[in-house]
Amino acid sequence: MPLLTNIGCLAACRMEGGQSEIHALPAAALVWEGDRIVWLGREAQLPAALATMERWDGEGRLVVPGLIDCHTHLAFGGWRADEHEARLRGQSYLEIARAGGGIARTVRQTRSQSEAELVERASLFLQRCARLGVTTMECKSGYGLCLDQELKLLRVYQSLDRAQPLQLVPTFLGAHVVAPEFAQDRAGYVSLLCQELIPEVARRGLARFCDVFLEEGAFDLEEARSILQTGQEHGLPAKLHADQLSDGGGARLASELGAISADHLEHASEQGMTAMAEAGVVAVSLPLATLYLGQTPMPARRWIERGVPVAVATDFNPGSAPSCHLQLAMLLACLMQRMTPAEVLKGVTAYAARALGLEGEVGSLEPGKRADFVIIDAPDVNHWLLHFRENRVLKTVVGGVEYPLFHVSPP
Ligand SMILES: [Zn+2]
Repeated sequence: MPLLTNIGCLAACRMEGGQSEIHALPAAALVWEGDRIVWLGREAQLPAALATMERWDGEGRLVVPGLIDCHTHLAFGGWRADEHEARLRGQSYLEIARAGGGIARTVRQTRSQSEAELVERASLFLQRCARLGVTTMECKSGYGLCLDQELKLLRVYQSLDRAQPLQLVPTFLGAHVVAPEFAQDRAGYVSLLCQELIPEVARRGLARFCDVFLEEGAFDLEEARSILQTGQEHGLPAKLHADQLSDGGGARLASELGAISADHLEHASEQGMTAMAEAGVVAVSLPLATLYLGQTPMPARRWIERGVPVAVATDFNPGSAPSCHLQLAMLLACLMQRMTPAEVLKGVTAYAARALGLEGEVGSLEPGKRADFVIIDAPDVNHWLLHFRENRVLKTVVGGVEYPLFHVSPP
């Protein structure tokens, strides 16, 4: 039964108490057995029966729950570096998309990759994320846009989930944009999604959620409603890319449908905020995408004041957020959205777990939860998110085992 002592500050990040309450405990200790937490508290109060042989030294550092990146597009082909330059020269995201770039281009590049190639590439990203303290990651499909290609992407996530220790949570995003084969037949693509893809993905158990990109150039409100309702009928709770580039009524739709989260929200209306507060939908902020697209940030303070839980994630993808550095996204949430370091930490732990329906399992340090935790080279969360360094993580522990001491079987 391992025991971590000499913890300078342990932030338990339980769900209760609001966005800024991270339940920080000085001079703490943590005990786990197998992959489960057994005890935590002040080291001086450690029960004698738990003082065991295998002692780990926290060296006075900060210990937090394993970080959760609750919005990524992990598996894809290529990068869109020239579009980055085009945007810097003044072209907009929508102009690039209309000219055949953006998501449609990544779809072409992803379709041409084999399953094994996608697994190999994504596993390198995952190794990087694990070293950055991430222990659970949501991963979306959406660069296939036909049955075989969407199943291929979801199988990539299934293989990766089995082959390495991080927990992956797959989301079906066949409604990312209309597939190129259906450019002249939007209704045909929506019915393909609802009648074939969603039922087949659900039947195979390859996804836990159904997501839609509700935006000009992607799907409109009525299309999004019918796709998400079909997902719900097949046991896939709703997520939504909402109000990113314009107010498309996404926050209100997420509330109406009882979505588990609505993500982006830079342009959400006041009514949308109120509706999400009443419905208990998690707002997922994606500040890397905001920064890369040169947008006005999602007004996190107003969401928090209304009592909406705000999670923070990377939106890792090859175009608008080409970085899987969750610690950087956390710092940006402080600097661009005026969230305090404690609020951001709650947003990548307890509230990110809630955005994935995993709050009973991960996202906080409590007896009975998975022993996923990270030792940070800082005395507390304010110091952590003051200086930006490439990586402040000293140790990532997943299911009670230090990464990368795992035997990682080849995918
Ligand atoms: Zn996204």
